[in-house]
Amino acid sequence: MLGLPAGSLPIDRETLRARDAADPMGPLRARWDVPDDLVHLDGNSLGPPARTWPDRIAREHRAWRNDQVGGWNSAGWVDLATRVAGRLAPLLGASPDEVAVTDSTTVNLFQAAAAACRLRPDRRVVLTEDGNFPTDRYVLSGVADVTGTRVRSVARDRLLDHVDDDVAVVAISHVDYRTGHRHDAAAVTAAAHAAGALVVWDLAHSTGAVHVDWHAWGADLGVGCTYKYLNGGPGAPGYVVLGRHLAQDAVPPIRGWFGHATPFAFDPEWSPADGAARFRNGTPPVLSLVGVDEALAGFDGVDPAALDARAAELTDAFIDLCDQHLDGQVEVVTPRDRARRGAQVSLRHPEAYPVMQALIDRRVLGDHRPPDLLRFGFAPALVRHVDVADAVDTLADVLRTGAHGDPRYADRKTVI
Ligand SMILES: *Cc1c(COP(=O)(O)O)cnc(C)c1O
Repeated sequence: MLGLPAGSLPIDRETLRARDAADPMGPLRARWDVPDDLVHLDGNSLGPPARTWPDRIAREHRAWRNDQVGGWNSAGWVDLATRVAGRLAPLLGASPDEVAVTDSTTVNLFQAAAAACRLRPDRRVVLTEDGNFPTDRYVLSGVADVTGTRVRSVARDRLLDHVDDDVAVVAISHVDYRTGHRHDAAAVTAAAHAAGALVVWDLAHSTGAVHVDWHAWGADLGVGCTYKYLNGGPGAPGYVVLGRHLAQDAVPPIRGWFGHATPFAFDPEWSPADGAARFRNGTPPVLSLVGVDEALAGFDGVDPAALDARAAELTDAFIDLCDQHLDGQVEVVTPRDRARRGAQVSLRHPEAYPVMQALIDRRVLGDHRPPDLLRFGFAPALVRHVDVADAVDTLADVLRTGAHGDPRYADRKTVI
């Protein structure tokens, strides 16, 4: 089916196709526009468009052209963010009033972490992990500056040893972007609460991929992306989750008119909207938001626990095939315990960059994180077992033939 060395490995594709066909989540794939010849293993970076996206954009264009500013009313742009938050909430295990869809994850983390620090004014430390995503680390240094705290950065596996009575906020990623390691969110939250601290979760690699269970976690604040596993589109806005137990007291440092209880009353003083909506600030990016709306429509009725189970199956299958067929040529750095990993598997190889370029040239789309990781995201709403087999087959072929030695794969691109 692909331009593959098809079937060069002894993998039983018929059985895999039958497994895909029998999978109750299999039909979800049809909601996304993935080219037939593409093995899409990059949901952790940018998901594919919803099939309905072009029609929706055309509809918004008509509303804009015909109604001009009136589109804010006629096309519902003014409360689009509220509707989209309502669609996202079930994937987080949260209530609609606990979710705001707004801004970038970067800005949202600043807002959420600063608000959390203000809730623990007598404490001086923002605790994070050494390997946290760079933007998170940069933002937290800025949060420390403006809140009079300091950042304490520790190894991910020693985090809980450092939660003491000077920690105001623990700000970490639920699933690590490099290794795919997943924290036990309920356990971390309980430990932080026992020490009097709050937790701000970055869910960029979690929502739409694994079981985010906000209420069961007892979680405080969270942020995340919509363009990764949620397929919202390049640069689509992120979200803030604000636990209801903090809804009276959490106040973001950027207080915008769209976070006001009544923006169009043009009140000279800010009063917060109810719940997470106070974390919105300026005019929403409508054309990006409609992409998120269409994407989330593709997840309507989808149980996040079922996404988690499918991600576990796909990543298990990938790890098993790597073990069987790659003969120690790569090291699986992602935890083998399903409960401790996200919908991602990272493989270490000294020439990870050219290997990934060779894979992409062969229509297996993953990505690379320096210095030596091949990253594969198994978006459970669209990846099939047969994709897992094709990816391992192609990787085995690249490594066996040394195809990655081609000089054109050494040219570094900016992204992936
Ligand atoms: C992708 C990612 C981000 C991206 O933030 P943006 O503001 O959307 O660029 C932030 N944090 C983590 C952990 C990520 O993986």
